[in-house]
Amino acid sequence: MLVNRIFSKVGVQSLKGRLRFGFICYIVLLILLASTPAVFIGKKYMQESAYSEIEKTIDLQQLVIENWFEDRIAEINFISELPTVKAKDLKSMEVALEAFDKTHSEFNGIVYVNKEGISEIDTTGDTGLDLSDRIYYQEAKKGNSFITDVLIGRQSKKPIIIFSAPVYGFDGTFQGLVFGPVPITTINDVMGEYQDDSRETYIVDKNGMLISDSRQDTIGQTIDTEIFKQAIEGRQITNFYANQNQEKVLGDYRWVHNNQWLIIGEITEKKVFEIFNRMAMILSIVLLLLVVVGYRMLMIIAKQLEVPINRVLEGTREIGTGNLEYRIDSSLYKYETIERKELSDNFNKMADLLDAHIETISANEERFRMIAEYSSDMITIHDAAGKYLYVSPAGKEILQYEDHEFVGYDGYLFIHPDDLEMISKNHEILLDKGYVVSTYRIRRKDGEYIWFESSIKCFKGEKPDELQLVCISRNITERKLVEQKLQEANDILRELSTKDGLTGVWNRRTFDERLEVEWNRAIENSAPLSMIMFDIDHFKAFNDTYGHQAGDDCLREVASVVLEIVKKSGDMVFRYGGEEFSVILPGTNLVEAKNVAETIRKAVENLAIPHSFSKFNQCVTISLGMNTTIPDNERSIEQFIKESDKALYEAKRDGRNCVRINDCESMTCSTM
Ligand code: GH3
Ligand code: MG
Ligand code: MG
Repeated sequence: MLVNRIFSKVGVQSLKGRLRFGFICYIVLLILLASTPAVFIGKKYMQESAYSEIEKTIDLQQLVIENWFEDRIAEINFISELPTVKAKDLKSMEVALEAFDKTHSEFNGIVYVNKEGISEIDTTGDTGLDLSDRIYYQEAKKGNSFITDVLIGRQSKKPIIIFSAPVYGFDGTFQGLVFGPVPITTINDVMGEYQDDSRETYIVDKNGMLISDSRQDTIGQTIDTEIFKQAIEGRQITNFYANQNQEKVLGDYRWVHNNQWLIIGEITEKKVFEIFNRMAMILSIVLLLLVVVGYRMLMIIAKQLEVPINRVLEGTREIGTGNLEYRIDSSLYKYETIERKELSDNFNKMADLLDAHIETISANEERFRMIAEYSSDMITIHDAAGKYLYVSPAGKEILQYEDHEFVGYDGYLFIHPDDLEMISKNHEILLDKGYVVSTYRIRRKDGEYIWFESSIKCFKGEKPDELQLVCISRNITERKLVEQKLQEANDILRELSTKDGLTGVWNRRTFDERLEVEWNRAIENSAPLSMIMFDIDHFKAFNDTYGHQAGDDCLREVASVVLEIVKKSGDMVFRYGGEEFSVILPGTNLVEAKNVAETIRKAVENLAIPHSFSKFNQCVTISLGMNTTIPDNERSIEQFIKESDKALYEAKRDGRNCVRINDCESMTCSTM
């Protein structure tokens, strides 16, 4: 979020810092947004109202000046109309003029000038002056009352203006004039009555000479300010400009005295905005106070928020460092809020729960440690590759190694080389399925291998993605020995049940089973199957002559020699019963079987076991019946045996020590 990015950019991370930063930004923004238009509008309003005030003042002053001029002219005209003046009675005229002068302080004396322009009466000074060149004389001659521009008084040597009026005799002829000089300071006083501290007004003539000024001592000086220039050109000025004192002012002007003089009203910028600035200052102070109060309140709220956070922080820190007993004591805090109290209570409940869980885990761990320590099974922990990480005491006892001889070493180092491939495969299964059981040999410290059965399980290690193997192993050497012995006994039993005890060749039961198997296989493969049945000739007589024991020996010798022969061809020999034997020859045709039969017959004969009753060199001989067929479902095993038996009977009948084939066709018959 943008705000979070700003916080991290300026490096403000704490809650309090962020609140403070946010508040300051907010206030700055507020002041900027609120004060800019306020200042703009406020200042504009102040400027406009100051301007209109100036207008009002100078309008008033224009009126005052015009009236004042009119009054003075009226007074001079009044004198010129006096009968003593009209009658040109100099004595009484002087009395009248002096009386007038005394009662009219604005005039600085009254002068009567005759029609030649010579002053005849002057209430303040000398007479007899020739004033015929003066403009007021010229104007009087023309019959005009007149107000001069500013002049320098002959006697006072100060700036004055002169109000004059022509005098006519009763006969209506021009007889001279009366005039009264007025010091322009008087105008200044008149002006002064209508101005206040905030505004300054003054009069200048067309040349820019100051006629009145609130600062008296500048009268007579000339100005060349912006407003003066604009007034001369007849233009308005509404903006601030620099006055003759180089102050920034707002001003307006009015022409008076027949557009001869200019009343200028000005107000300094400082004065224009004085109230505004004062208000702005008061507002700023109030605002500042509000900001301070707001800031304080924010900090109090921040503290309110910070206190519970810090309390929980402290708690998590304590619990994180193992102090599970740590609880927040909220009774220490006065004026606790509901939320803060609930937060503390919840934290304490969580801590209780954690404490209880950890206690349970510790108890469980202790239980498991005890199991590992006291178990007669070897409990080991390995990394995913099989390296030993932990070995229980039982393991050390069984294999006789010390801890340091196990831990850190690869488990494969201890395994019998013949079992390594199987263990490696099981390891893959373990990592895939998560569980495996292996039986293998492991090397003890004394170098002897013992049998182990291990149940191995994968589980998650302490680090993420770490896999560990827990392995519970049992020494099964004794069980293995018993198993081996049982296996041997089994083998013996199997031997006994399938072989003939006297001769060691397969017994009759095996013959039946085997013949059925070979019969079916021959049907399946459409292959030939041959069988030889043979019987020792005159064996009863042998027994009678040499005894039963010798008979047994003879049986063994015959069986042994036949066994040697059939072994080579992969066929099987069976004791069919008494002194009768049988050979099954799978996949053997008639010619091949006949050869085997003949070989057997000769071999027995060649044994040359003495048999006095025998007509064949007084040695033991055998008679053989042979049968060959390609079995099918039409024929039966019983029939096959019967036919073989019949061939044997044929051999006996034909004189013994010969081979006969099933269809009674004589193949060979050996005789003495
Ligand atoms: P033939 O030439 O016609 O076969 O005459 P034979 O005497 O061999 O025939 P017979 O079936 O009459 O006799 C078989 C004899 O074999 C009878 C029996 O005493 C003897 N015999 C059978 N089994 C054993 C045995 O396991 N041990 C001994 N020593 N003799 C046995
Ligand atoms: Mg016999
Ligand atoms: Mg017999």
